[in-house]
Amino acid sequence: MNRSLPRLILISLAILLAIILGAAVFLLTTYQSPPVDPQWAVAPSETIPEDAVTVRYTGTATLVFSDGQTTWMTDGWFSRPKPLRVLFGKIQPDLDAIRKGLQRNEVHDLAAVFPLHSHYDHAMDAPEVAKRTGAVLLGSESTANIGRGWGLPEEQIREVTDRAPIAFGKFTITPIELRHFQFPDPVMAERALGDPEIKAPLTPPVGAFDYRVGKAYALHVAHPKGTWLILGSAGFVEGALEPYDADVVFLGVGALGSQTDAYRETYWRESIDSTNPSRVIPIHWDSLTGPIEGPFTGMVRAAALLSKGPDQLLPFLEAKAAANPNITFITLPRYAPVVLF
Ligand SMILES: [Zn+2]
Repeated sequence: MNRSLPRLILISLAILLAIILGAAVFLLTTYQSPPVDPQWAVAPSETIPEDAVTVRYTGTATLVFSDGQTTWMTDGWFSRPKPLRVLFGKIQPDLDAIRKGLQRNEVHDLAAVFPLHSHYDHAMDAPEVAKRTGAVLLGSESTANIGRGWGLPEEQIREVTDRAPIAFGKFTITPIELRHFQFPDPVMAERALGDPEIKAPLTPPVGAFDYRVGKAYALHVAHPKGTWLILGSAGFVEGALEPYDADVVFLGVGALGSQTDAYRETYWRESIDSTNPSRVIPIHWDSLTGPIEGPFTGMVRAAALLSKGPDQLLPFLEAKAAANPNITFITLPRYAPVVLF
């Protein structure tokens, strides 16, 4: 009798531990549904006219644009380090994921890869993408230092100037410096946005937050077929986009659901009301750690559990869609081409 009691306690403890571990694994490996309306999803284009401009979407802010003659991309991010590694470990480009990502997007010759800022989920893989495709790596000095740390030759690195247009074939890309999304949590804000520059070549493996933000750019793109604006991060500088018009806005909405109503309204006004698009394509709404194959996912459950209150992104976007019947909301399929113009 008195020998089985400690045994019972041990068994109970083991069961309790298994439940806690199981719950932790569940929270870190399963995801909420994506914060976009399934009705906005468009199918891949079945036929692509010879002179069409197409877009392909991998997830987050990785977009490939092509007019059949020239192909270039934003970010080129395919590695998806898992949450624990991002928070506590070291990360580096996943070469196999990059190879597959380029293959799935049917990228062969690439004129340019432009990380929208220097955080790991935008800029980490871009130097390897440039190496494999011959593309030039565009961005701030911080992005250039990510390229140098990866051993990308200097002739494939080009630091850009705020509002100075760059031409590739018929595409004219104008980078416009804006603020990155402002994290409402002061600890996160300091961790992700404090000490913004990468001042020396950065060679991974390094901590995820060693990829400092650098400069955050919106890209205005002009092509004979149309104009568009790409916002990789939900930040703004009041009046900065006023001089620009766009037929389409790729609207970065990452973490926007955690900001205040006032912040969201200002972001909308500065990004959409200023540029007057007829189509809005939300991007960066999928999980950073979700699988890169198959359907897009929303936030990992562990992150959702830690956030204060329900995420406001979907109600915000739904309200904007309802209030702006002249604007078509679109979400893109993964990898497959969609005719933009
Ligand atoms: Zn960022």
